[in-house]
Amino acid sequence: MDGLDPQLSRALSAASTTRDISIAPGCLRLLPTVLRRTAPATRYVIVADDNTWAAAGARAAERLAAAGLATAEPIVLSETPRVKARAETARAIAARLGEHKALPIAVGSGVVNDLVKYAAECAGTPYVCVPTAASMDGYAASGAALREEGFKRTLACAAPVAIVADLDVIATAPAVMGAWGYGDLVGKLVAGADWILADALGEDPINAGPFALVQDNLDAWLGNPAGVRQRDRASLEGLMRGLLMAGLAMQAHGNSRPASGSDHQFAHLWEMEDIAVDGQPVSHGACVGIGCVSMVAAYEWLMHQDMRAIDPAKLAARTPSPAALQAEIEAAFPLAFMAANAVTETRAKAGTPRNVERRLKELKANWRDISRALHRRLPQAETIQQWLAEVGGPSEAPAIGVSRDKHAADYARARLIRRRFTGLDVLHDLGLLERAVVELFAPGGFWFNEGRTP
Ligand SMILES: [Zn+2]
Repeated sequence: MDGLDPQLSRALSAASTTRDISIAPGCLRLLPTVLRRTAPATRYVIVADDNTWAAAGARAAERLAAAGLATAEPIVLSETPRVKARAETARAIAARLGEHKALPIAVGSGVVNDLVKYAAECAGTPYVCVPTAASMDGYAASGAALREEGFKRTLACAAPVAIVADLDVIATAPAVMGAWGYGDLVGKLVAGADWILADALGEDPINAGPFALVQDNLDAWLGNPAGVRQRDRASLEGLMRGLLMAGLAMQAHGNSRPASGSDHQFAHLWEMEDIAVDGQPVSHGACVGIGCVSMVAAYEWLMHQDMRAIDPAKLAARTPSPAALQAEIEAAFPLAFMAANAVTETRAKAGTPRNVERRLKELKANWRDISRALHRRLPQAETIQQWLAEVGGPSEAPAIGVSRDKHAADYARARLIRRRFTGLDVLHDLGLLERAVVELFAPGGFWFNEGRTP
């Protein structure tokens, strides 16, 4: 960890698995040293796809050979039109790792990293990651998002022991991938706001270390979207650092709360539904970016409501019964697997009337402090849209293939797909979720933009 700054050292000392991170132009040359220090093995194998082999894989192999490290034949994945994140592919990689008794080095972005992460877990070996794009926050996170029998699942597996993020490599990735990563990172604003609320209402106490790792420098990391688009090294470094820090914060906390809130619930919903534009699946980061704007607009609306006027006991008495909840879910999710998932998740967080009343009393009593903390955390929704446009990403739902009507309906659906307590649950407790959505999409509301180009 030569020249490692205090921020990264602090994050690494709290992380469960990752021991070493390099982020700098040209740091691929450090790979052999990093391997010897953090991942000693008798043999290594590079796993890449056609593009990432050309971007960094071949050079990484040269470095290993020059340093006298033994390697097995590289695994270069090839699939048309692109390599897919499938558990069976990961298991095939795991079999190769077992045959060669080799420690894998994932050279690639989201899909290659997830495949290798799970393959390494199956083969019982640590792995090292060489990111080729600042496209998402999964590099330093545990768990891999892979499809199994058609369903996308997060499979349990350990994070990499080391990450070598060469900014010269990352700058050669298509510019749009930086926009995806930026979308994933901007969502952390909402993750922070949701956690502030969940903490204040006694639902999920803030874990100060992981919270600070993500939130303390977020504004600086997001500060130059145009620079990310132009692939300016300092801007890419900020973005990459933020994405890696989010992964380390999740390792330290033990789940994704520090990096994922209601913004991600919109994204997960749309990803489960395989939304696409011109036949191309929409990236995770693009979905998160729109999810973030959706929630910040909802928070703005919430902050305009008068909480002194609410009657917690009366509102709590309206808490839906388990049967009513089941009916709501079945009506909201025509796809059986999504309805089944939503039933499990929503039941895990469904409040009893007593619980709801307690939350609402806290909200009413502490609203001034809570709304101040939310104000401090959240920029305006319109500002986030502007940043997304500057980075070259979509900033409106129709641009990712989600119609206005669907977008409006998805506020209620996003709440139901995950057990995490967020701003959506607060709106629901208040009996205001529906009204908020109606007003956000009505003439004069945030999402009413007839005539404005999406
Ligand atoms: Zn994400």
